[in-house]
Amino acid sequence: MPDQPPADRVVLLACSVRSLRRHCVEVRCGCRTVHIPLRLMAAGGAAGLTLAEVLLRLQCEKCGQRPASVALEEDAAAGAPGRMGATGWRVVLTQAANAE
Ligand SMILES: [Zn+2]
Repeated sequence: MPDQPPADRVVLLACSVRSLRRHCVEVRCGCRTVHIPLRLMAAGGAAGLTLAEVLLRLQCEKCGQRPASVALEEDAAAGAPGRMGATGWRVVLTQAANAE
């Protein structure tokens, strides 16, 4: 049984980056998919922002596009020993109408 997410998307969007720093966001745009640990965002000064505020600011550094979809996921690297690479839970936060 995979671990359950800590809350649904509505609650997660209202959470601060600080409170979610054990997790990761998966950001997909037209050119790539990146996984950003929220602890890095928190360290970069976004700790007090909510996840919703972060989503509004996200932009691909490579192509400059807004993300096609953003999901919150369990940070595999922060998981218990023996779970490296294991896929944990994943909550889709936003998805463009034309995304898969
Ligand atoms: Zn891009």
